[in-house]
Amino acid sequence: MWDFSTDAAFQARLDWADAFVHDEVEPLDVLFPGNADPYDRTSRVYTEGVRPLQQRVRDQGLWAAHLPPELGGMGMGQLQLALLNEILGRSGWAPMVFGTQAPDSGNAEILAHYGTEEQRKEYLRPLLDGHIVSTFAMTEPTGGADPGGFTCRAVRDGDDWVIDGEKWFASNYPHAAFVIAMVITDPDVPVHQGSSMFIIPAGTPGMEMVRATGLAGEPLGEGAHAYLRFTGCRVPAVNLLGEPGTGFAIAQTRLGGGRLHHAMRTVGQCRRALEMMAERIAGRRTRGRPLADQQAVRHALADSWIQLEQFRLQVLHAAWHADNAARTGAKEDARAARLHISAVKAATPTILVDIAYRAMHLHGALGVSNELPLIRMWQAGPVLGVADGPTEAHKDVVARLLLKDVEPPDDRLFGSAHLPARLAAAREKYADLVRSEEATTR
Ligand SMILES: Cc1cc2nc3c(=O)[nH]c(=O)nc-3n(C[C@H](O)[C@H](O)[C@H](O)COP(=O)(O)OP(=O)(O)OC[C@H]3O[C@@H](n4cnc5c(N)ncnc54)[C@H](O)[C@@H]3O)c2cc1C
Repeated sequence: MWDFSTDAAFQARLDWADAFVHDEVEPLDVLFPGNADPYDRTSRVYTEGVRPLQQRVRDQGLWAAHLPPELGGMGMGQLQLALLNEILGRSGWAPMVFGTQAPDSGNAEILAHYGTEEQRKEYLRPLLDGHIVSTFAMTEPTGGADPGGFTCRAVRDGDDWVIDGEKWFASNYPHAAFVIAMVITDPDVPVHQGSSMFIIPAGTPGMEMVRATGLAGEPLGEGAHAYLRFTGCRVPAVNLLGEPGTGFAIAQTRLGGGRLHHAMRTVGQCRRALEMMAERIAGRRTRGRPLADQQAVRHALADSWIQLEQFRLQVLHAAWHADNAARTGAKEDARAARLHISAVKAATPTILVDIAYRAMHLHGALGVSNELPLIRMWQAGPVLGVADGPTEAHKDVVARLLLKDVEPPDDRLFGSAHLPARLAAAREKYADLVRSEEATTR
């Protein structure tokens, strides 16, 4: 059965979240718009402003909705989570207030799945309680989309592993209590089988930040993304997550869900841009008439709405596939989820760039000014095209999965859709019918 409605009880919770984000959280975006602000646990904004809001989210049972109930989350599944993320996407602070901010949400997921009891106690618990933040370090200066370029290496030495190498764009390192890093432990096998995941507490000797990197617009030398260097960095063997060689499998646990979260938060951003666009063209007058009287302007609104609706349904469908794969555990369902998630990831930046651009453009000078959030929204498009893997890599996944079961046609020259061959086959199949038709027309 197909049903596009939301269960009434869940809708009531979404309505609560919607009003709460609008009334209580969005003002924080205006007051503290810096990228790093939500991650500084020592700031008064966090302790006095955010903590009480987080408590209200807990009281509603909406805290850390991505995690299973035994870990203090809601165990919502990707589809319900997507609907919540659509609301959280409107605000930079909201994911933090709801305990689902990246990269902590993904790190919590892998600690929950693969962590030992000790690791969960030491790292997952305080992460879930919102007392600390964390970092995920996989990308290297020599390789991002292509893990074949990774060189950061760990060598076993007694009860320790010793790490040497570099990581790049490790988000939130300046505030993180620990880093989860993917490092090569067996260079003699392909990198997908020879990498392992380590937990490295902040302050571990041999782990240093070469420099902080920011996004465009932030001052040089500042920002939340770290260029990290490991020099003889000694980590006890108990800090290995899962088994040696399982780093990529572990990384997949966090990346799939994360891509859906970003996509649905993008839907939230686009909806905001769309609302602003509609408000603007209804209110602004040009040549004595509302801007909305211009056909090109109306089409900009219509194109944006059509694009957004298509994308929103695509994301919700991908989230359904992810839940289905988790429920059945079947290989073909996991493959379908991967296909749909990569497709969504590849589509995400274009949606934001297109819709934010139209909204910005229709606001004229105000749209490109620093008095509206539209240009920042638009700038996030290219960032989404690179973070979590570039668009081309995801299109490659989509194409490879689509091609997996495709056989070359028997007729290599003209293909299976060639009309002369199909006509001959159809004539043969309906020979009696063709004969009687021919007899009547003779
Ligand atoms: C805001 C932000 C936060 C990030 N946070 C983290 C983090 O916390 N931890 C972490 O480990 N990493 C993080 N990253 C890094 C991110 O995962 C990488 O930037 C990404 O994987 C791409 O790697 P790269 O930058 O080395 O680009 P490259 O791999 O060099 O790719 C550059 C370009 O080459 C082209 N290209 C690459 N591969 C292909 C291909 N197969 N086919 C066709 N074209 C291709 C694409 O146009 C691509 O954009 C973050 C990035 C950003 C922007």
